Amino acid sequence: MARVLVALGGNALSRPSERGTMAGQLASVRRSSGYIAEMIAAGNEVVISHGNGPQVGNILLQNELARESVASMPLDACGAESEGLIGYMIQQSLGNELRRRGLRHEVVTVVTQTVVDPDDPAFVRPTKPVGGFVTAEEALRRIRESGEAWAEDSGRGWRRVVPSPKPLAIVEAPTIAKLLALGTVVVAAGGGGVPVYYRDDSELAGVEAVIDKDLAAARLAQQLAVQVLLILTDVAGVALAYGRPEQRFLGDVTLGELEGLFRRGEFPAGSMGPKVVAAIGFLRNGGDRAVICSLDDALAGLAGEAGTQIRRDNLRSRAASAA
Ligand code: ADP
Ligand code: MG
Repeated sequence: MARVLVALGGNALSRPSERGTMAGQLASVRRSSGYIAEMIAAGNEVVISHGNGPQVGNILLQNELARESVASMPLDACGAESEGLIGYMIQQSLGNELRRRGLRHEVVTVVTQTVVDPDDPAFVRPTKPVGGFVTAEEALRRIRESGEAWAEDSGRGWRRVVPSPKPLAIVEAPTIAKLLALGTVVVAAGGGGVPVYYRDDSELAGVEAVIDKDLAAARLAQQLAVQVLLILTDVAGVALAYGRPEQRFLGDVTLGELEGLFRRGEFPAGSMGPKVVAAIGFLRNGGDRAVICSLDDALAGLAGEAGTQIRRDNLRSRAASAA
């Protein structure tokens, strides 16, 4: 039994082949909820965080298409909308799975604000593409009229790019801790949380950026003194030589070993890189175990029997000497 933060990747919420209808997303969420309900039934305390890329992309597109008739919302507001939407689906679907198992836990979503540093270097160089593709002409108009950053994306058209600053703290973490103590299952830091910064000592304001969901999950896990960070994605774990013939998935590794591989540049930014950085940060800041595995291996991964299992070095040597 442990306090576990489950970070759901894109495949836990929708399928790439699918248009993102409510029914389609709910079907994906139901599958993920089944696994999480089993973890709760086994006595674990669970916090859930999740990605929001496709959902926030669709909200941005809706804003864009309707901008003549409805006021467009800034990216931070779109992020908050996506936290509410995805949180609602998880609350309902996980609640159903829990009741089906005779469990009475409540599931609650906390719309989360994540503090970033306004001097983070990411603000000087926006890198993260969001929303749909437009023509070069349209992108140039948007750059002129709104001051937004747009970039050509691998021959497919132009896309808005926004900064992806480092998460420093989850504002609502103390409240989330109180909810957990009551036995409530909490969904938080969805899509990395809404990026905010301190204008001065007391005033928070939203900022147009996106925060990596795995990095935010690691930060929240640290603030909640979580024992296990379980990152569920669409591959079996962390691979060496990913996509090459000599590809090999890592099973048990120590923090030190993973840090060494990361320094060698094994893991690309934007996909496996942030998961590895999240795992490292979590273990460096007091976590016991980080797991990166596929969604369908969620239960085996939590049990230590699937995926890439990362432990602090001293824990592993202690286990080895006990064996
Ligand atoms: P999620 O939505 O779960 O965050 P991502 O697409 O961001 O998923 O990250 C998972 C993807 O990372 C995998 O589908 C895989 O294509 C890619 N990837 C890149 N490098 C590696 C690696 N070294 N090991 C495993 N997967 C990798
Ligand atoms: Mg990702």
